[in-house]
Amino acid sequence: MRAFDATRIFFDRAADQMELTENMRRMMITPKREVQVQIAYEQDNGELNTTIGYRVQHDDARGPMKGGLRYHPDVDLDEVRSLAALMTWKTAIVNIPYGGAKGGIAVDPKTLSVRELEIVTRRFIDGLHDVIGPDTDIPAPDMGTNAQVMAWIMNQYQKYHGFNPAVVTGKPVELFGIPGREEATGRGVGIFAVKLLSRLGRKPQQTRVAIQGFGNVGSYTARFLADAECKVVAVSDVSGGYFRGDGLHISELLRYVSEHGNSLAGYAKADHITNEQLMRLEVDVLIPAALGGVIDVETAHAIRAPIIIEAANSPTWPDADQVLEQRGITVLPDVLANAGGVTVSYFEWAQNRQHYQWTLNRVRQELDRVLSDAFERVWELAHERKISLRTAAWILGIGRVGRATVLGGIA
Ligand code: NAD
Repeated sequence: MRAFDATRIFFDRAADQMELTENMRRMMITPKREVQVQIAYEQDNGELNTTIGYRVQHDDARGPMKGGLRYHPDVDLDEVRSLAALMTWKTAIVNIPYGGAKGGIAVDPKTLSVRELEIVTRRFIDGLHDVIGPDTDIPAPDMGTNAQVMAWIMNQYQKYHGFNPAVVTGKPVELFGIPGREEATGRGVGIFAVKLLSRLGRKPQQTRVAIQGFGNVGSYTARFLADAECKVVAVSDVSGGYFRGDGLHISELLRYVSEHGNSLAGYAKADHITNEQLMRLEVDVLIPAALGGVIDVETAHAIRAPIIIEAANSPTWPDADQVLEQRGITVLPDVLANAGGVTVSYFEWAQNRQHYQWTLNRVRQELDRVLSDAFERVWELAHERKISLRTAAWILGIGRVGRATVLGGIA
């Protein structure tokens, strides 16, 4: 199954509950615009290389489209299309005035020098600058991109259109960024985890957590949950998993990673396990925070955690989701769980437009408020209708987008 087919199935599960007509479904799921650009550049060794960059603008009924840029060898149009649609529901679920978009380049950033990464990014914006902008489509970081890449995007865009830092979010704090953006997605995952535990009558101190992925999202999630007194017993990255039954020392792990090229490889104060083993650990909370598609039917049967929090986008295939539901496993879905990042991106954009910088405290307070409201709405809807948190979240998002579409007028 392709990524967008999976998105369509989740969409239809919610649309069935809402009794949406086929015509309305087709209009809401079809992307507004898809752009594909050639990126040709000279490598450090003087050879010519060519790759492809994508931007899918899914829906703008509720405001300018918003979504990250992913640099990863597996990026293709289908994946970007699926992630763009998720952004439409995500921004609606947390009720920020945006639509949804996503972009990416089929490239492995680890194989590029800093100079090559900069050139690839600038050529991408040369191809995209006419279709993005602070009132149309605002990119942000995702897997394989970071604040430096966002700074290059801002700089390249202004060569065509003049100074306008609100064209991209996730910028360095020293260059029109906002304090708290880097931590925002992981912090949001942590905030939701604590809320969910409380609703399920569990105490953080008695909660064992395993996290797949120790990049931006996974590492900040681990830090937040360790501070909240949960026991993070396993983390992993592309080098494999690291397990310690009485809890990993997260601040030591963070130091290790920053001193070892952002990798956990070689960390010796824990047992080495595989990523597959991590997914099947006997823990209370499992948090996929790396790639999509990691929970298939077989894994869904093998998972022993009663709670899954989807920090990654699209970690669960639709048929696996049904298995998890039948097994009574509580899943906090991606469209809600990782919405902290886009929420603080919205604060950054608003701050850029006001030319006024918020404090970290204010960012954290507002983030907590926005996410708490969204969590309560989804939780209540799920319990009122006796449906999963995923279907409830999608109903909330699709409903808001649908109402904006109809109010704006379709004729
Ligand atoms: P990142 O590039 O900072 O980190 C990715 C992590 O995943 C790294 O630790 C990497 O080693 C690990 N990884 C890669 N391949 C793996 C594999 N095969 N097995 C196990 N681990 C693997 O990316 P990120 O920004 O932390 O994004 C992680 C996920 O969160 C993605 O699904 C992304 O779409 C989602 N997300 C990110 C943000 C954000 O603000 N960065 C916001 C919303 C959602």
